Amino acid sequence: MGGDIDDLRTPANRAELIDVFREVSAGRRPWFVLGGGSNIVPSDHGFDGTVLRVTTRGIDSHVDGNRVLVTAQAGESWDALVEWSVSRGLAGIEALSGIPGTVGAAPIQNIGAYGAELDDVFESLVFVPANDGELRTLTRDDLRFGYRTSAIKEGMAGLVVAVTLSLTESPTSAPIRYSQLATELGVEVGESASLTDVRRAVLELRASKGMVLSDDPDSVSAGSFFTNPVVSDEIARALPFDAPRFPTAPEPTPIVVPLGTEPDFPDRSGAPASVKLSAAWLIEHAGIQRGFALPGSNAAVSSKHTLAIVNRGGATADEIAELARYISIRVHDTFGVMLTPEPTFINTD
Ligand SMILES: Cc1cc2nc3c(=O)[nH]c(=O)nc-3n(C[C@H](O)[C@H](O)[C@H](O)COP(=O)(O)OP(=O)(O)OC[C@H]3O[C@@H](n4cnc5c(N)ncnc54)[C@H](O)[C@@H]3O)c2cc1C
Repeated sequence: MGGDIDDLRTPANRAELIDVFREVSAGRRPWFVLGGGSNIVPSDHGFDGTVLRVTTRGIDSHVDGNRVLVTAQAGESWDALVEWSVSRGLAGIEALSGIPGTVGAAPIQNIGAYGAELDDVFESLVFVPANDGELRTLTRDDLRFGYRTSAIKEGMAGLVVAVTLSLTESPTSAPIRYSQLATELGVEVGESASLTDVRRAVLELRASKGMVLSDDPDSVSAGSFFTNPVVSDEIARALPFDAPRFPTAPEPTPIVVPLGTEPDFPDRSGAPASVKLSAAWLIEHAGIQRGFALPGSNAAVSSKHTLAIVNRGGATADEIAELARYISIRVHDTFGVMLTPEPTFINTD
């Protein structure tokens, strides 16, 4: 989907990328940095400005004590970096196998899957802020990673030039944190498996859900369209008993009220949202099944996964947005929970 780009630039190397970015970000016209385009919903009316396509390549590594620092240029394919690391016996990103897109986009939403996320291994990145064009090295503190978000996603506009990860030389993986993956590997959650087995199992699981780019029509998506909502304890408790809930903070301490005394409950109304819900469960239980489409629309819910919206061929951005809105409204009307879209919308309502 999408329309024409008025001015598309594809710099040939890192120096040119930085130069072109400084030029376009200092100008008056709208600009957009494009990686692999796997997490965007671009308007069908096109982009009246400059799109800077990042294709710089290269992976370097050096040993630093008991870790290996791996630096990849922003246009490198994320999955090629995972494959490179696994083939060299470097552990840390094997569970992030098969995520489409580029290395430079990985920190934007702190990519994650199967109990792992970029934040686990992130060391630093080279960044050019749009406001002053000065090359900077940003660390975890600057990036304020959260669940599918970062300071860049929250508005720190700029260009990611290269990303450095801290990996470990080991034939076995980081501990497996996701029960479905652990079952697939025949280990317990918290145990490890061989790097190659984890990569193979993750790719198989992802393929079964249409979540690796392939000729599977269900992979013509932006991956998960909605993030899993994180809500307060009160809202989570009000949901049906079988709704999956994943506490992201320790459970509140139980309060003992001796018989015959007045309970003195602390005011938790301002307590931070701390329970992650399953967006897929909420969508399914709001009555939207796999394969669902609005009449006459080429946008549909994936036939393998309720969280992905698929372009069945010729879908417009408006059709995708219309289906996303419909799903959000159904979930909100049923459970009172708002879903947040994960992809970046470009001039799309
Ligand atoms: C089938 C499928 C499965 C997916 N599964 C997952 C998953 O399991 N987990 C997950 O987290 N995501 C998943 N995604 C989403 C997507 O793969 C990631 O968000 C990925 O990081 C996007 O990379 P990209 O290069 O395609 O970025 P793009 O789509 O090109 O851009 C995404 C955003 O990043 C910005 N950006 C890109 N490159 C740079 C740069 N160098 N500097 C500054 N900003 C930049 C863009 O401006 C845009 O805002 C999936 C997508 C698909 C299609």
